[in-house]
Amino acid sequence: MRISYSSLETFENCPLKYKYSEIDKIKEPKTKEAVFGNYLHQVLKWFYQQDPHFPTLEGLIEYYYNHWPAFAKTSGNKPPPVKTTTSKLKIENSLWQDENEEKAYFQEGLRMLEQYYKFNFPPKTTILDLETRFEAVVDETPDQPGGKHILTGVIDRIDKLPDGSLEIIDYKTGKRMPSQKEVDSNLQLALYALGLKRKWPKVDLEQLRLSLYFLKFNEKIETKKTEEDLIKTQQKIINLIHRIQTSSFEPKASPLCNWCGYRPICPIWRQFYEAGSEKDFNGINIEEKIDEYFKLREDKNKLENELKKLKNLIEVYSQQKGLKRVFGTNGYFAQEITNKVSYDKNKLKEVLEPLGKWEEILAIDQKKLDQIIKEIPPEVREEIEKAKKVEKVAEYLEANEKTKKEWEEELR
Ligand code: SF4
Repeated sequence: MRISYSSLETFENCPLKYKYSEIDKIKEPKTKEAVFGNYLHQVLKWFYQQDPHFPTLEGLIEYYYNHWPAFAKTSGNKPPPVKTTTSKLKIENSLWQDENEEKAYFQEGLRMLEQYYKFNFPPKTTILDLETRFEAVVDETPDQPGGKHILTGVIDRIDKLPDGSLEIIDYKTGKRMPSQKEVDSNLQLALYALGLKRKWPKVDLEQLRLSLYFLKFNEKIETKKTEEDLIKTQQKIINLIHRIQTSSFEPKASPLCNWCGYRPICPIWRQFYEAGSEKDFNGINIEEKIDEYFKLREDKNKLENELKKLKNLIEVYSQQKGLKRVFGTNGYFAQEITNKVSYDKNKLKEVLEPLGKWEEILAIDQKKLDQIIKEIPPEVREEIEKAKKVEKVAEYLEANEKTKKEWEEELR
């Protein structure tokens, strides 16, 4: 199998998205976050390509302004001075919701580049390569047949540092900065180290820094890998490939859906985008029925609260009066006694084990197991993961209270 890191990541995040993109070959409409992120990568690539005649900050911003995804195609205007406003920006297509949104993205990119420039210029390193493509062959072990897999990827930048060591840098434009621990276990960086090792076998891992540069925060987090880490990475990749090969490509809803261009066709979101008549079901408007359900549920909750209050009052009354039964016109309350039962575990085992019935009552408590999984080391967690068998998939509809307006604001 030939697979890129980004496809592996896509599968991990959402198997259905992987299927749309890699198997069905449906072109994903670009989201603004993706266009924005790719654009900043392009600007930084251009910046470093000018080595050794690096542009000034004004030059960098001029490039940024002139090639801005919407503006560049519609404007023949001269770029503005560095402290520009974005009032000249034009809305070219539906990528941006409105001019204000486009301005906000533009200004944010500008801010990121300005602080990046101030912090990183003049470069203290030698740029060895930009957008380095690599291929790494991963062999299956004999007990896991399936042949060879070719992993591909593109490394944003490789630098040589003054002390002779190398640094792989990958730019991130996301709104979240991970912890050092997360970066240490980041699959992308491990895979890049693997790719670089295959491309340049003489690279000493001790001398290789792996960094993620978070442009929004102007922060770089780095990590290192050992030979042992790379062996583990290969095994992880093989496991992931096996999961892809046997996957039923179910959708996995997560905050990442906000950036997914397949929402209008994905079964999680499709109905959200359907026009009024498309929501008809045997002549019934299903949207109205869903609203009716939530209205009734609200009424039911109110009623249940009322019932609880009444019952409390009657309980207090019967206790204070020392009554075991209290009567109304349409019914009565009677005090009942229930016993809470517990067993001596050893005694019970003694009786049930010879009958072969002991194991039957030792069901695994999923809640307790989930809690234990959070507390144990990752290696043991992986072992538990291997012991997991999905025997039955239960599908059910769960009602969630979040209005359409709230969703629209989140998915903008
Ligand atoms: S919208 Fe979400 S669930 Fe649907 S394909 Fe995209 S990432 Fe997966």
